Amino acid sequence: MIVVAIDGPAGSGKSSVARAVAAQLGYGFLDTGASYRALTWWALDQDIDLADEDAVAGLLGTFTYSSSLDPDLESFAVGDVDVTAKIRDPRISLAVSAVAQNLRVREWMKNSARDLATHSGFPGVVAEGRDMTTVVFPDASTRILLTAREEVRIERRAGDVAGRDLAETTASVRERDAKDSNVVDFFTAAPGVTVVDSSDINFSDTVSAIVDIVRAGSDQ
Ligand code: C5P
Repeated sequence: MIVVAIDGPAGSGKSSVARAVAAQLGYGFLDTGASYRALTWWALDQDIDLADEDAVAGLLGTFTYSSSLDPDLESFAVGDVDVTAKIRDPRISLAVSAVAQNLRVREWMKNSARDLATHSGFPGVVAEGRDMTTVVFPDASTRILLTAREEVRIERRAGDVAGRDLAETTASVRERDAKDSNVVDFFTAAPGVTVVDSSDINFSDTVSAIVDIVRAGSDQ
């Protein structure tokens, strides 16, 4: 199984960059943040207290999450509810870190990501998240940490969510990174992981840089 594992903090552009890398390579695209967001949406929909670890973990037994791995088709569902748009709501971004701290959730998500990658039907998979290079796919063919300076990430995030001001976005990005980094270190590259800093390069140059790293790796 060929896996390109990409990690990085909020607003690093991981998701859109990883999707474009997958499209260029003809690979599947696994957005693992979407699965944490979908579980968060489902928990909130059922009025579960996110701080209640047992209650949240208890949802996993009946959590029927499905996701398109086609990089040209963004689509996520919980049961037969299409949650593609719902999971991008700022309400979910605020709440998701609480769910991601739950170690039983992380274990389930790890197995789910491996399973989706194994049965993707594509010649390879680009998997994007926080712990792809370290926990989920430590043996991936290519492992990349995509970073950007904090002010650049905040500006990009503010541009993504219409109607939000910079102060609000700054607080939200900082808070999410701080909470998320309690369970996974996605600011430092693990041994063997290549750092790509996108602060001073545009989107298509970032995509090309990663595609070049993948191709250089497969030539060896
Ligand atoms: O990447 P995205 O911003 O959609 O991720 C949403 C949240 O899911 C992150 O803030 C983090 O709490 C969690 N996450 C995670 N591990 C991953 C991917 C996402 O903990 N591999």
